[in-house]
Amino acid sequence: MEDTTLYSALAGLLYNIDIFAKRAGHNIKKTDISEHFIPYQWRNGVQTYFKELNEIPLEATCLAAGQSIDNVPQSIHEAVFLQSIFQSISLDGRFSRQPSRKYVLPLKTLSDTSRNTIFPIPEPTSLETNLIYHKLWANFSKEVQSLRNKMIAPIRHQKPFLCSLLNLLQKYTWAMPCSYNEGMADISFYDHSRMTAALAVCLANKPKDTNEVAILVGGNISGIQEFVYTITSYEATRNLRGRSVYVQLLTESITRYVLHRLGLPMTNLIYMGGGIFYILAPVTKSSTTSQHLTFGGERQMQTPTLDEISPDITQRLLKIHDGELHLVMGHTLVSKDEFQVGKFHETWHRLSESLHRNKLQPLISLPDDMLTYHVGSSMGTGGNGEYVCDMCGMEAEHDNHDTRICGFCHSLTEFGDDLAQATHLITCISDEHNVETRKIFENVSCLSVNHWQKGLEMFGANVWVVNADVPPTQSYGYMQVPYTTESIEVVDINPKAKFASDLYAELDDSSTAVMTSPRPFAQLVPIVTDRINKTKRPITFDELSHKAIGNLKRWGILRLDMDNLSEIYKWGFETQNGDDTINRLTLSHVANLSFALQLFFEGYLPQIGPDSSRLKNRLYVQYAGGDDSVVVGSWDALPEFAFIVQEEFKRYVSYNPQITLSGGINLATINYPFHEIIAELALAERAAKSFTRHAFIMGCLTDI
Ligand SMILES: [Zn+2]
Repeated sequence: MEDTTLYSALAGLLYNIDIFAKRAGHNIKKTDISEHFIPYQWRNGVQTYFKELNEIPLEATCLAAGQSIDNVPQSIHEAVFLQSIFQSISLDGRFSRQPSRKYVLPLKTLSDTSRNTIFPIPEPTSLETNLIYHKLWANFSKEVQSLRNKMIAPIRHQKPFLCSLLNLLQKYTWAMPCSYNEGMADISFYDHSRMTAALAVCLANKPKDTNEVAILVGGNISGIQEFVYTITSYEATRNLRGRSVYVQLLTESITRYVLHRLGLPMTNLIYMGGGIFYILAPVTKSSTTSQHLTFGGERQMQTPTLDEISPDITQRLLKIHDGELHLVMGHTLVSKDEFQVGKFHETWHRLSESLHRNKLQPLISLPDDMLTYHVGSSMGTGGNGEYVCDMCGMEAEHDNHDTRICGFCHSLTEFGDDLAQATHLITCISDEHNVETRKIFENVSCLSVNHWQKGLEMFGANVWVVNADVPPTQSYGYMQVPYTTESIEVVDINPKAKFASDLYAELDDSSTAVMTSPRPFAQLVPIVTDRINKTKRPITFDELSHKAIGNLKRWGILRLDMDNLSEIYKWGFETQNGDDTINRLTLSHVANLSFALQLFFEGYLPQIGPDSSRLKNRLYVQYAGGDDSVVVGSWDALPEFAFIVQEEFKRYVSYNPQITLSGGINLATINYPFHEIIAELALAERAAKSFTRHAFIMGCLTDI
């Protein structure tokens, strides 16, 4: 990462922190911010952005708020609550719904994703918000100081410091309003600050002679549905969970890889989840030129262009997944004017259209010679049935001659088992420029990527699943931090695990910066003790069907997602201003809304099952991400679960009747091909959406 990028990102991220301080009763001048928060080795660099003549962070914060620097909006210095973003949404075409009651977020740290923490509440009238702000500020400052003291290496700690600071802002400021009041009372300080950082990086790197200030980049991993669900029912529950989490980790690794290759920090990520990512990148001189990268070459000193990154990733995915999964990327150049309120919704729509266009020609990014090579030649052994995996149908050498399951599928089944008892997920993130990463890529052939971990390694991520409830020798004794590791990210699935502190001590020993990921990790898995070998494992479909109450013993699958999401981005933020209709959507709204949905689907939804005695141990969340979820369970538990989720979602979106969920439920027996169940399920889901929305349709594939 270039110094300019690091310094401008840090300056953007902290630019409004004086307002948080002010609400807590402290006065900090903007010119003193770097002194307070930045480690000495980067302080002077960051300080240049806080000098009065430097307008970059101010302009960035205005653009994130959809305003121009000529019209700086007024700051909110009062200790107020953040309004629920869902209350601002209306699909009527105009803001016709005047809520009788204002819903706000409880001013709490994001230490968990329980209902008490993340659900909006009616605005309290008698709460001492000044005191709450005071406490939040005291704890935030303390944590930043301790972080600052730990980050001493000038180069190696750059990204970890920035990421950890971003995580602290998420923890402490996710539920307070951003700095400006003009139509921004529903945007969190956290989301506004990270978008200010992203825009500051774009402005600091902008070539003088271009009108555009940034590029909105979108990525979509295509083929996920088929990859996850086109498997035989053999050991499907265990394998399915492994598959869906693998796809999530792959999305994260690819997103991180794109950021690495563009030389950008995590603050330039708008959203990542459900196989999708959005990034805000600076315009560089070569942004729109098309030169193709030579693989395995010397360290690339220049930032590659998007046209170079896309075929690189496509090639890597071809090596791992033989064309089953591929990345579609789209982008659009954005001028300052196009960030403004009233225009940004069109900009966002342009990005969606670019992605949609490129989806229709998935391998378009490959240069002609590579395309001819991949399309024109056999990827495997040339259709030899001996080498076809019984589970995924792909050509591969079998791991075990009795079952004819390929190594990759076998590893995903084990991954599913390990995840069921996982307390931590550890990711060692390698420096992209490291030559080793290139070597890994050069030497692999399609057939040799026979383990999910190897797939992620192709994008510079070494991931381990750890069960810190058992002694280290039985769990992570085999884990080795690669010497190419730049930082280690830990997802704390169960922070109360018995040996969690030993795990952290071991990681700290590796002298690489360790960051705790603030991302919620969906985990609802019924565990049973195997009758034969007495070990614990996730429940099977068959066992789920036997847990059905009544005579009908079936398992079922539920898929649900939010209705009208693309319409919400298009016109959900329109408001009436006199005779005019203004679309209020800003970059910060997009960041805020996607984060809010992620909190519900990934953080809260998996907690619903265990709360109910009737549902307990009868539901298995296979997938939860973005704005949708897939749950397998005893058939009779699913409608009840769907109903509860719908009721909870209603409450989460502050009873806005225009924001709804719908989905489908299908029943089956173990013998029915899994992908056909999923295909039928998709039909049910589509029917629910086309007829009524806000509904669930239930189907059955077997004779009952
Ligand atoms: Zn397979």
